[in-house]
Amino acid sequence: MRLSELLAPTLREVPAEAEVISHILMLRAGMIRKVASGVYTYLPLGYRVIKKVIEIIREEMDNKGGQELMLPIIQPAELWLESGRWNVYGDELFRLRDRHGRDFALGPTHEEIITDLVRNEVRSYKQLPLLLYQIQNKYRDERRPRFGLMRGREFIMQDLYSFDRDEAGLELSYRKMYEAYSRVFSRCGLKFRVVEADPGAIGGSSTHEFMVMADSGEAAIVFCESCEYAANVEKAEAVVDEQTSAEEMLAWEEVSTPGARSIEEVSSFLKVDPQRIIKSLVYQTEDGIVLALVRGDREINEVKLQNVLDSLRLFMADERSVAELTGAEPGFAGPVNIKGVRVIADQEVMLMRNAVTGANKTDTHIINVNPGRDFIPDKVADIRLVKAGDPCPRCRGKLSEARGIEVGQVFKLGTKYSKALGAKFLDENGKEQLMVMGCYGIGVSRTVAAAIEQNHDDDGIIWPMPIAPYHAVIIPVSAKDKDQMKIAESLYISLTAQGVEAVIDDRNERPGVKFKDADLIGFPLRIVIGSKAVEEGVVEIRHRRNGNVQTAKIESAVPLIKKIVEDEIAESLA
Ligand code: ATP
Ligand code: MG
Repeated sequence: MRLSELLAPTLREVPAEAEVISHILMLRAGMIRKVASGVYTYLPLGYRVIKKVIEIIREEMDNKGGQELMLPIIQPAELWLESGRWNVYGDELFRLRDRHGRDFALGPTHEEIITDLVRNEVRSYKQLPLLLYQIQNKYRDERRPRFGLMRGREFIMQDLYSFDRDEAGLELSYRKMYEAYSRVFSRCGLKFRVVEADPGAIGGSSTHEFMVMADSGEAAIVFCESCEYAANVEKAEAVVDEQTSAEEMLAWEEVSTPGARSIEEVSSFLKVDPQRIIKSLVYQTEDGIVLALVRGDREINEVKLQNVLDSLRLFMADERSVAELTGAEPGFAGPVNIKGVRVIADQEVMLMRNAVTGANKTDTHIINVNPGRDFIPDKVADIRLVKAGDPCPRCRGKLSEARGIEVGQVFKLGTKYSKALGAKFLDENGKEQLMVMGCYGIGVSRTVAAAIEQNHDDDGIIWPMPIAPYHAVIIPVSAKDKDQMKIAESLYISLTAQGVEAVIDDRNERPGVKFKDADLIGFPLRIVIGSKAVEEGVVEIRHRRNGNVQTAKIESAVPLIKKIVEDEIAESLA
């Protein structure tokens, strides 16, 4: 490819719309352009990277016995009604209606469609297991599309669905995919961690997320400094220090706390540690109001709370609901003598002695509250947010925190969808059984963004060799110099013939401009053809990643470059 012909409109300025580095660099390198919020066009260079990632995924899926198919993006509402997700998926589902008034959705994921296919086509245990996958656009009307390809409303996903006869079969399929996904991300040159995660709305029992470590990541993860434990904070288990205090229980009494609402205010007003205050938070769910309690120095984990409640929707109650419930202004809610609400207490709360809580009276708190004596929660559960420094739930080592970009996720679905849609098979005894399913997804476009987050410098992108749009750029210092161009052209032809993907920068630009663009786009190798090439037959090979420069005789340049490319690709496979 000739850069003079390539549609790669690079930008010098940092685009105002972009906040994170991958978004900035993909715009600047002429790889993507925005069409609407969360909707992008992939230009030729950007799309080449996408295709590289897709090819890696294909190889790894096929290696594990995956079969590629293509499911429709337009999905009939009936299937979503059957699974029960039409109403619970909410505003994220892009819905549309055809000319006959029938409802459809643009696929955000494909459990319904694939389960429908398999229930119609698979009858016998002999046809299982099945690993079926596709790579295509997905549609989610995200509340906050942002960061370019990181969180789009239209994005590319690889999704695989496994169908097995039983749990043991699922376990095997799950392990295969876990391995395949790990290989995909290693091959893309990414530093990642696999973390335990919360299954969320998709359902199922066990799930892991593949997290690319990056400060710009939207996910918070904790990992143990001593063992292998790593989890999304949404899921991370809290360790409870089982020791109950030996403190004697005192009689509770109301005290006046004018204007003291927050934990800090109450703590400094009453001169008690936040640890001795019960934080009471009022939530609204589809099944009414909930009072959630955690220790004053802790934060609540809303994902855990929602799971405990098994609720579809959970949000902080507004001032009016709080007033109706407690008869007080916000900031004075508490569990003692409260009515008409479910009370969920964090495990740690039950160990507190002579604690402080709101009195459900404006400007008033209660001291010497003893959980179990003065109030009995409807449920005691782990509902707090784990943070750095907390003990590891596996080995009691110390947990650290980091940020990650979720590039993939694997789920054990079990029979959730096969039951809802009736996907059954006949076992060896001719008995009908439900298929046991798993689902697995990689955000292809997000993976590309994540790769840039981890591989860049002040000058631009530094593509890992296996996913670089081209392996090398050949730069004749002067495109007007016929001798330089001749060498460049012949090198280009030889490299291409040897399977090295190269571009020639044949534009009539100053060398400085060409070098800047080469760095910005991030070709792993830059081959400069200058006067030395003409006079001495020597070319210069510069490595984008570390700036190292090698020189080589023109004759030996091709095998040398080929070897560098092959070695770097092989390294990612190791
Ligand atoms: P998130 O929590 O980031 O919204 P998710 O857990 O809802 O993602 P999954 O349903 O697990 O996403 O989808 C599989 C993969 O698709 C994710 O791991 C992620 O890499 C990618 N993905 C999901 N949503 C988006 C999006 N809006 N834009 C780009 N990629 C996405
Ligand atoms: Mg996910």
